[in-house]
Amino acid sequence: MIKALNLSFKNRIAFNYIISSAVFICIVFIFIFQVVKYSVNNHINEEIYDELTKHLDDVSTDDNDTYLIQVDQWRAREHNSISVNPVFVQFYDVNGDEIDKSPNLKGKNLTLLDEANNDKFVNSSLNSIPIRQIQTPILNNNKVVGFLIVAMSMEDFEIVLILKNILYITFPLILLLLFLIARFFAGRSIKPVQTIIETSNQITRDNLKTRIPLPQNKDELYILSENINSLLNRIENAIDREKQFTADASHELRTPLAVIKGTMEVLIRKPRNEEEYKEKIRFCVKEVDRLNKMIDQLLLLARFENQKQNVKLESIYLNALILDNLARFSEKSELKKLKVKTYFTEDFYIQSDTYLVSIIISNLISNALKYSNDRGEVNLHLHKQQNEIIFTIEDHGVGISEQSLNKIFNSFYRSDVSNHPEIKGTGLGLSIVKRLSDLLNIKILVDSKLNQGTKFSVIFKD
Ligand code: ADP
Repeated sequence: MIKALNLSFKNRIAFNYIISSAVFICIVFIFIFQVVKYSVNNHINEEIYDELTKHLDDVSTDDNDTYLIQVDQWRAREHNSISVNPVFVQFYDVNGDEIDKSPNLKGKNLTLLDEANNDKFVNSSLNSIPIRQIQTPILNNNKVVGFLIVAMSMEDFEIVLILKNILYITFPLILLLLFLIARFFAGRSIKPVQTIIETSNQITRDNLKTRIPLPQNKDELYILSENINSLLNRIENAIDREKQFTADASHELRTPLAVIKGTMEVLIRKPRNEEEYKEKIRFCVKEVDRLNKMIDQLLLLARFENQKQNVKLESIYLNALILDNLARFSEKSELKKLKVKTYFTEDFYIQSDTYLVSIIISNLISNALKYSNDRGEVNLHLHKQQNEIIFTIEDHGVGISEQSLNKIFNSFYRSDVSNHPEIKGTGLGLSIVKRLSDLLNIKILVDSKLNQGTKFSVIFKD
């Protein structure tokens, strides 16, 4: 129902609060009313009953079944007693004829009811004033010889009716007041939500800089604002990275194309000798190869963007996988006359994706060989530490400067290129390593010193 009303959050809180308050107040009011009604009722009945017993004492009967009222006695008491509420008394004989009555009745009479109503409190009226009366038979030797009626005005009872009206009027007023108060406080406490709405309205794809001001109280809304802000940070970073990647990719793809185009344009300007043609064509083929490799790597990066479903877990014999990959690069290591040594403490098996782990290892081996100096040493270790299997690959080559170390996993980043312009690369290998290791929950650590060497550690959880 509340949903159908389409109330604002603030009004909904106030509304829910009011419903529970209404039930509670209603119960309290009913209780108060019933208690007051019961005690006023009881009080009137007690007073009437007191009067009845007093007046019964004023009656005496004789042997002829006529009874004598000590009129003087009860009239005297009538005059002396200071009663706030007037008491009406009337005596009837057994035939229903009046014997005597209190003077305050004047011309009026109290109604003698049939015997079924004897000794019962009955509400009636006298001169349109509401009264409560009780009648009791006057007995002589267990024989009814007359009736005594005592009545009292019900003015006291009016207090109950007044109370009823007061409660009826105050109930909606209290609820209205509570609703307004609840609405005010609800509005105040959800003010940060309003700020969140306003701020989020300002945030667009092109304006991701705005952040939600944090509320003063460290409550749930503070945590919500903080979470939204950190989400915005991550989105902004992702978008920035995406923009950067696209810009870098197009630049990196265009460069070899421009180089090839330039070379060819120079080549056709005038006739050249065969050797010159061969040299330029070889150069272009190398550039095309580089371009090909880059496209392959870009496709690989795109393919494994958060694609957990493509991961095929199987048991991998790690020692063999490393040696296989090493063998693929044997030509290169021989060319540079590198001393490649393996130190495997035992046979290691892991549960992972063979193809993807193989890409990680081959990239690291390729780099270690590529960035090693001629005749350098490359050491591969495989060992276990607690519940981790650690593969390290260490070279003694060009190394990475401290300021570049945290950027080498970024796409297209190539560190200290001017130090070693002869070493070609795309800057994509390590970003592929990073993406795949994230996908497979593998930790990669790097330790390097410029001109001394680099050590990559690949940590597999057992
Ligand atoms: P690249 O194709 O340039 O090798 P990578 O993503 O594989 O791209 O590596 C990024 C950068 O990290 C490289 O340009 C290089 O500067 C540095 N790097 C990676 N591995 C090594 C290493 N073993 N020794 C020195 N520098 C390295």
